[in-house]
Amino acid sequence: MKRLFSEVYLHLIAGVIALGILGISAHTLWMDRQNTWHEAEKSSRNVLTTIARDLDGNLELLDLSLKGAMEGLRYLSVQQLPPDLQYRMLFDRAVSASFMGTLLVVDQDGNLIADAGPVIASRSLNVSDREYFVAHKENNHIGLYVSRPFASRTRSGDLSIGFSRRLSDSAGRFAGVVMGSMPLATINQQFDNLILGQQGAINLFRYDGILLTRYPYDAGQINQDLGASPHVQRLLQAKSGTFDSISPIDGVRRIISFERLNKYPLVLTVALSVDEIFSAWQRKALVLSLATLALCCAVVGLTYLFQRELKRRTRAETKLRRIARTDDLTRLPNRRAFRETFEREWRQAIRSGSVLSLLFVDADYFKSFNDRYGHGRGDEVLRGIASTLETNIRRPRDVAARYGGEEFAIVLPETDLAGARLIAENIRQTIIAMGIAHEGSPYQTVTASIGIASVQPSRGSERAAFLDAADQALYQAKAAGRNCVRSPEDGAKFQGALLPHEAA
Ligand code: GH3
Ligand code: MG
Ligand code: MG
Repeated sequence: MKRLFSEVYLHLIAGVIALGILGISAHTLWMDRQNTWHEAEKSSRNVLTTIARDLDGNLELLDLSLKGAMEGLRYLSVQQLPPDLQYRMLFDRAVSASFMGTLLVVDQDGNLIADAGPVIASRSLNVSDREYFVAHKENNHIGLYVSRPFASRTRSGDLSIGFSRRLSDSAGRFAGVVMGSMPLATINQQFDNLILGQQGAINLFRYDGILLTRYPYDAGQINQDLGASPHVQRLLQAKSGTFDSISPIDGVRRIISFERLNKYPLVLTVALSVDEIFSAWQRKALVLSLATLALCCAVVGLTYLFQRELKRRTRAETKLRRIARTDDLTRLPNRRAFRETFEREWRQAIRSGSVLSLLFVDADYFKSFNDRYGHGRGDEVLRGIASTLETNIRRPRDVAARYGGEEFAIVLPETDLAGARLIAENIRQTIIAMGIAHEGSPYQTVTASIGIASVQPSRGSERAAFLDAADQALYQAKAAGRNCVRSPEDGAKFQGALLPHEAA
């Protein structure tokens, strides 16, 4: 029981240590992961803020150019000026904006009136099919309109985005459009210097989910309408935010920061690949996990070794104790073990108020047996008697021991004199029944005498007196001619010993 407990404790302690190590490293990794995530969020937001501010500034300039041209047009409608002056009136503000593609003015039919390129009188251009032209023609309160990317007709097919405003005549009727274009290339240029990793991405969406441009640039993906994708829906619904999601464009999982520009119907996103963000962390996690695993294995291994050693010692101790308490010849408990059993049962009998009986069994004429048949045969007989004793006691608490020499003792807890006498008689007869010839004995066979004492001990009772009584009874049995059972109750009354044939 004690051993079981110490084993349980050992396992418990090893378990707690292993769990502790696991817990600490898991917690460390988790915190580290959170940290990595927050850092990535922060850096993507920083990048986002920078490019949003740039774009905002450029658009502001572009819009000023549009407004400048509109004002110039109003002035021109009352004044007739030479072409170069006209040009300056309209486009003075536009030429300074380096990021701009073209700035052009078309009439209500979409025919080019003026453009910010070099003055070429013969240039003819019609934009009535353009999305922005149609939009302004059909609706007069759009304000600044952002078009889908289109292949510029004035700039040899470069993809550009048009930013346009409606022209109205004095009566408020549609009078044309003034449009400034921004080539995707100039927008993309700004993204090239940013460090976003191999799989980082920047997207510029129109408020309705049209992808205007993207870094890394891929002409095949531009101009897609992603308004239906839940991922893009999420971007379009808030002013700004950060979330992680799998890209509908290339299937890469990213942390995405997004922001809607203040004055323009545009949404910018900066996305960092989750795999890349965590690649360093993953390496660290692998190393730490392996180290943790190794530590846990070490704890388990040490516990196992410790436990094995403990078991080995316990076994050795148990064996030693058993040897110290066992008689070599008969394998019965020895006198020391008998003492312990007797003491224990004595106290138990006092506690429970029950009767305790004690038998002393002594081989008769044994010296003469040894003399006649040799000590080796004598040993065999002692072993035979020992096994006879054991077969005649049945209850788990009954104990037979070798008391010394050819004398044995049996403790019979909760057994009264009558019960003890029955057992004693059985033993005596079983020894005779072994049928070992003994010519030195008047019975011609090996026999034993048995003394019994029974007592219901109380606190004042003397153990020594009880042992004495059993000894006295044995003495009486010897005196009565041996091969018989006696107890103090039989008194000095002589009872003839049973002869072998009577016993059978
Ligand atoms: P009694 O009938 O009065 O008991 O006579 P006894 O000869 O049996 O008693 P005694 O005390 O005179 O002698 C005991 C003998 O038991 C002495 C010894 O030779 C023998 N003996 C004691 N221990 C052993 C043993 O371990 N092995 C053998 N073979 N004989 C033993
Ligand atoms: Mg004897
Ligand atoms: Mg003796």
